[in-house]
Amino acid sequence: MGELRRLPKMDRLLAAPEVHAWNARVGKKALTALAREVVAEARAEVRAGQDAPTLEQLVTRVGARARETEGRALQPVINATGIVLHTNLGRAPLPSQSLQRLQAIATGYCSVELDIAVGSRARRAMAAEAALAELCDAEAALIVNNNAAAVLLVLSHLAAGREVIVSRGELVEIGGGFRIPDVLARSGARLVEVGTTNRTRAEDYRRAIGEHTACLLRVHPSNFKMTGFVERPRASELAQLAAEHDVPMVEDLGGGRVVRDLGELVGPATDEPTVQACVRDGADAVCFSLDKLFGGPQGGAIVGKRTLIEKLARDPLARALRVDKLTLAALEPVLQLYATDASSDLPVLRMLRTGSKALEERAAGWLAALEGLGFEAEVRPTQGAIGGGTLAATELASWGLVIHQPDPEKLAALLRAAPSPVLGRVSEGALVLDARTVLPPEDAALIAALRDAVTKLTAARGVGCKS
Ligand SMILES: *Cc1c(COP(=O)(O)O)cnc(C)c1O
Repeated sequence: MGELRRLPKMDRLLAAPEVHAWNARVGKKALTALAREVVAEARAEVRAGQDAPTLEQLVTRVGARARETEGRALQPVINATGIVLHTNLGRAPLPSQSLQRLQAIATGYCSVELDIAVGSRARRAMAAEAALAELCDAEAALIVNNNAAAVLLVLSHLAAGREVIVSRGELVEIGGGFRIPDVLARSGARLVEVGTTNRTRAEDYRRAIGEHTACLLRVHPSNFKMTGFVERPRASELAQLAAEHDVPMVEDLGGGRVVRDLGELVGPATDEPTVQACVRDGADAVCFSLDKLFGGPQGGAIVGKRTLIEKLARDPLARALRVDKLTLAALEPVLQLYATDASSDLPVLRMLRTGSKALEERAAGWLAALEGLGFEAEVRPTQGAIGGGTLAATELASWGLVIHQPDPEKLAALLRAAPSPVLGRVSEGALVLDARTVLPPEDAALIAALRDAVTKLTAARGVGCKS
């Protein structure tokens, strides 16, 4: 019992200057709760027979907890994974033009539903939707919160209580709980599966069309790839079949590629259809994400035939899925970059179009800046990915810094703990930092984090094995 009484009291702990300072950062309520946890744990330690921790030790523990709490808030990270569209890292970084517009729009009032010239109410997103339709060669466009919302809206509107025909090869899960059969069920539609896992023909769809058919749905397989004995009808073929039977053809395209130029990219990625091609092929509605290959803020687009898009816009569900003014503020400059042939200002496209020579030079620059630290590293070709459930099967040849360390996981953890957290990839017993996805202004922070982490690792080893 005597030991328990020696435990510093809550008041003293909260009054310690290093603890008190956290009030301004995490708030008094959260800080008090953390301190209470720390004291309760110290009590348990004492009851288990350990010495009572000192005030100083408790202060350190509270500080560590407060730092953890703060770290859970959204913060910028350096993406050295080589995965351009990383859903866990926020997918597409925005161009500076979006930031400028956001700054102007966010802290004041704006014309989000106002026709300034006439002084009366206007439809939200009208300008962005007109620009998007223009870009995609479509009659009309509708913008919602994300692509999952776009698909849900289209299916709910067209197919509640009716049938949607989908190929068995396209009943995919995109990740993050987006499964085509589940979305279909949620929209109230009945799924009619046709074909087989590897081969589905137009004839399979034709046989399934009946009086309850609401639409044909074609889904981009996005994050997996089938090879070998595979077949799937061309979009134009399906669109024609749908038109003959007077049912709409809906395409969930996923990625939202609207440009031809993907740099040195080779392989299946170059076959990835553009939105324009899908529209031209005759789909009534094409759904895609605005934050994947399109390179904008989170959002979902539905482009296609005007009559259908107008009906979708009036559906009550559209109101529940509508976009925020901040999304529109970030999106409009992206659309403007496309309209003015300046798409290389979009970070996603700039990264994809960066040539291997430039990437190698980047990585070599990092290595040179780390000279003299005495660790084993080399500049090597690496393998990144487009990612984000987009062409995930497409590997993206790149260059990076490969750091050989006895414990690469430990190095990775130290880099994540840096003031500007760096995310790399552990591969074959080494830590790989890919040059493609690190934004040029981040180089200095990346190098500082690396220097610091490697120094810490070396120091720790020096203590461990005195030879
Ligand atoms: C990514 C993807 C989705 C989900 O899009 P979100 O914008 O993440 O909601 C749906 N379908 C396909 C084919 C996709 O690739």
